[in-house]
Amino acid sequence: MPAFIDTAKISVRAGNGGNGAVSFHREKYVAAGGPDGGDGGKGGNIVLQTDSHMSTLMDFRYKRKYTAENGADGSQRQRTGKDGADLVIRVPIGTVVRDAETREVMKDMSDEEPFILAKGGKGGWGNQHFATPTRQAPRFAKGGLMGESREVALELKLLADVGLVGFPNVGKSTLLSVVSKAQPKIANYHFTTLFPNLGVVYVEEGVSFVMADIPGIIEGASEGAGLGHDFLRHIDRCRLLIHVVDVSGSEGRNPVEDFIAINQELYQYSPELAQRPMIVVGNKVDIAENRDDIELLKGHAEALGLPFFELSAAAHQGVRELVFAAAQRLKTLPPVKVFEPDYVPRLPEVDLSEPLSVQQEDGLWLIEGPWLQRLMSNVNFGDYESRNWFDKKLRESGLFDRLEEMGIQDGDIVSMYNWEFQYQK
Ligand code: GDP
Ligand code: MG
Repeated sequence: MPAFIDTAKISVRAGNGGNGAVSFHREKYVAAGGPDGGDGGKGGNIVLQTDSHMSTLMDFRYKRKYTAENGADGSQRQRTGKDGADLVIRVPIGTVVRDAETREVMKDMSDEEPFILAKGGKGGWGNQHFATPTRQAPRFAKGGLMGESREVALELKLLADVGLVGFPNVGKSTLLSVVSKAQPKIANYHFTTLFPNLGVVYVEEGVSFVMADIPGIIEGASEGAGLGHDFLRHIDRCRLLIHVVDVSGSEGRNPVEDFIAINQELYQYSPELAQRPMIVVGNKVDIAENRDDIELLKGHAEALGLPFFELSAAAHQGVRELVFAAAQRLKTLPPVKVFEPDYVPRLPEVDLSEPLSVQQEDGLWLIEGPWLQRLMSNVNFGDYESRNWFDKKLRESGLFDRLEEMGIQDGDIVSMYNWEFQYQK
């Protein structure tokens, strides 16, 4: 039995930037040309993109690690290394992306916009950039920056306007197949629906809505007793619920008891979900032996202020009325909930005591080292606070004291990876 997978944890790593090259122009009869080492290429990003043909996170069960291509190193004759290709990961619409550890929301993949989950590292500069009238033969180039890496939790929460709820076998999938082009499995036994199904319901010109059919909820589902519990998250976002009840008595069921039991499941899963606008549907009226059960359920629903519809999904009876009523109701309801990101990027912990390498040539100070590279790969230099934080770390590391000892002058250039500034005491 294929399991339906709607949560996954993956780790992603964007590509590293390529290194800049050290090289000097050579031509016959020209003794020593200028520096012509090209820059490293940029590392590829990890990009998320929705795919309307996907409806589960199954793929992520088999593949959990994703790495984008590194940028190539620069080379002679000012040749820039090739950029690493982006790696595009396809996810179903409605995939909520969270930081695996903190659970903060990074992105709700609810539209077609691609989302950069991890940025590739920038390429390092080749020595061609370091030539000045006084410094004609720079023997250094810069290393590329590392790509970002992350651990994220994916959780699929389908985006649908209307969610069908009810016991297994009451006719939910049949209803969806009748009102939309979706072709869910329909069969006369319980638990036939293992995957949520989505269908677009065309009401009339310019009016449509999305309906989701989730596997039948059974009693105790909200406590994890059986199939259904996991699926409730898929109707979390629905604006309207259609509660389908079998009123035919064909399985010896009591429709009012069924209705109450399902509502209790909804409530136990989420009191807020239990408050969601609801339309009650008595299905299979075509094979109902008498009208008693229908009237009882109708009375019960109406006492709760809920609209009630009689239906034979199989015989297409009452379907249009139901679809119109749902569309009317949706017009009055707020849009589908999209989760706002609340993720705060955290800067990496690094061991500042690891020594940095310092190279010096004609007023240019080139600083390199693993922890510096890691920090710089993660600092957003467009952001004032991040820059301040970075400056503080450099001070803490004792770098500036060391440069002073080595004789740095006011106005000298301090150059580290993709960042340069004029030194001021
Ligand atoms: P689900 O488990 O709620 O999705 O139920 P299905 O849509 O798979 O239907 C279960 C069984 O009930 C199938 O055999 C359907 O053909 C049958 N069924 C669904 N709707 C009706 C109906 O209106 N009348 C009758 N007589 N049978 C129905
Ligand atoms: Mg079904």
